[in-house]
Amino acid sequence: MTTAPDQPLHILKTVFGFPAFRGAQREIVDHVMAGGDALVLMPTGGGKSLCYQLPALLRDGTALVISPLIALMQDQVAALRQLGVRAAFLNSTLDAREAAAAERALREGALDLLYVAPERLVMPRMLDLLEQSRIALFAIDEAHCVSQWGHDFRPEYLQLSLLHERFPAVPRIALTATADMQTRVEIRHRLALGDARVFVSSFDRPNIRYTIVDKQDARQQLLRFIRETHAGDAGIVYCLSRKKVDETAAWLKAQDVAALPYHAGMDAATRADHQARFQREEGVVMVATIAFGMGIDKPDVRFVAHLDLPKSIEGYYQKTGRAGRDGAPADAWMTYGLGDVVQLRRMIDQSEGSEEYRRVSFAKLEALLGLCETAGCRRVRLLDYFGEASEPCGNCDTCLEPPQTWDATDAARKALSCIFRTGQRFGSRHLIDVLRGHATERVEQWRHRDLSVFGIGADIDEAAWRDVFRQLVTLGFVRPDHEAFGALRLTESSRAVLKGEQRIDMRRMAPRKGKSATVRRKAAVDGLTAADASLLERLRAWRSEQARTQSVPAYVIFHDATLSAIASAHPRDIDDLSTIHGIGAKKLERYGSELMALLRG
Ligand code: ADP
Ligand code: ZN
Repeated sequence: MTTAPDQPLHILKTVFGFPAFRGAQREIVDHVMAGGDALVLMPTGGGKSLCYQLPALLRDGTALVISPLIALMQDQVAALRQLGVRAAFLNSTLDAREAAAAERALREGALDLLYVAPERLVMPRMLDLLEQSRIALFAIDEAHCVSQWGHDFRPEYLQLSLLHERFPAVPRIALTATADMQTRVEIRHRLALGDARVFVSSFDRPNIRYTIVDKQDARQQLLRFIRETHAGDAGIVYCLSRKKVDETAAWLKAQDVAALPYHAGMDAATRADHQARFQREEGVVMVATIAFGMGIDKPDVRFVAHLDLPKSIEGYYQKTGRAGRDGAPADAWMTYGLGDVVQLRRMIDQSEGSEEYRRVSFAKLEALLGLCETAGCRRVRLLDYFGEASEPCGNCDTCLEPPQTWDATDAARKALSCIFRTGQRFGSRHLIDVLRGHATERVEQWRHRDLSVFGIGADIDEAAWRDVFRQLVTLGFVRPDHEAFGALRLTESSRAVLKGEQRIDMRRMAPRKGKSATVRRKAAVDGLTAADASLLERLRAWRSEQARTQSVPAYVIFHDATLSAIASAHPRDIDDLSTIHGIGAKKLERYGSELMALLRG
């Protein structure tokens, strides 16, 4: 097929309603259109789908999209149909009649895209059907599922290399948001993509604001964060245990937050129901363990919160990456304290894994603690971990409010000698009572009132002492002993501090006010005149109604950004309306006059 050089751009504008390509999209599209194989590594929200959807529209035949995310296929197809694209899916949720209809459409060349589950694709009957049909390309989404060492391994993915054997002339494009080198190598190898061109994007997510706060009263901190900056927004709250998930969800609900729990201990039907509600309704807060992971394809998740420390930077980045896929401002918020460090170290210590496994786990935890304690830009630190150099971002808590450091040498010495004098048998709570001169029952019981360290730290408040102990642990001067219920013990390196030979600077955790991404966004909304703001409300109500009657998620009708653009741009006619980001020809035809009526109303 011969195509004019700007045909992809034309389709981008008219079908998708976007004015320009993002990053490497254009290059990838051109490469696949010309029949080349590609391996695309792009962060979540980077715009991977367009890389195969555009060639699907421009090449002869049907593009086969292989995805393990069966629960999402229906919504993905609904979104494409809204754009006027001929799309269908084939998976176990269809009955025989529906499946037969999709197969017939494929054979007759009546489809631009067909989404298929991997286990279905490799069935002999399906492969025969493909041979009778015209295939434009194979897109292998979530390609990291081929990695046996990754957390999303799908055995069926291993069989996908047969596509290359059976259909050598059909281009293949594999896509993933998993960044690490090992997975990359494995994908190339296992999918026989040795000759594929590799496209690696920056893994930065500039619209996500990273904030890590000192844990005081985690629930209240979370509630304040949600109320002050994300009222009515969809978000995810990650907790370590199922019990904590249940408790936190119930508690948030009692505080009038639309929260739902999700973890592997719940029955499958309830879990699926909660996932569907999160995906389709607006403003649901999902409280979840890591079991809630792949398969979240909601573009308008406005925040991802962590109530417990994840185990590694990879885990943290993957989870926070679920926020703000639509490119609008979003928050990655985490509260973290000494208790988290103690708990994770204990979990690693007591794990069944080999010595090697434990060593690697400790190193990963160290790297994460470094991120938590850094006085520099969080993003620089994150990207550096993935091998990408960058400049301070201006969109993380440490850039916005540079933490102050203070000379904590004296406080550290007091803390360390308190540990020593009390026999290295206590956790930070009791140590702080002793330092602050609180004659608690425990203090009396152990006669710690008689010690020289009793009351020597009364000038520093409790929260600041917690900071000191936590940083002493992360800096390696103190180690929690799990055999002794997390009692703090001195390490070799504490000696120099005790002797007064080493100075220690610590960062001061300022109690942060909720100056987060949404404040910016709300400010932008406040920037709208009262009339515009009320127009935006009407547009949202109209969208909800559309979504309900068509039973699709609201974002399938229009993204938030598109509605905001309409409310502030005041398009005067259909032509004006067509220039707005996210309004292509089909949506203009379908909704244009209704929108104009709303605007005039
Ligand atoms: P990924 O699959 O990489 O996570 P998606 O393909 O879902 O990302 O795209 C993320 C969001 O970015 C979607 O809302 C999509 O509509 C939008 N998007 C993609 N490409 C462009 C573009 N060139 N211009 C504007 N928006 C885009
Ligand atoms: Zn920064």
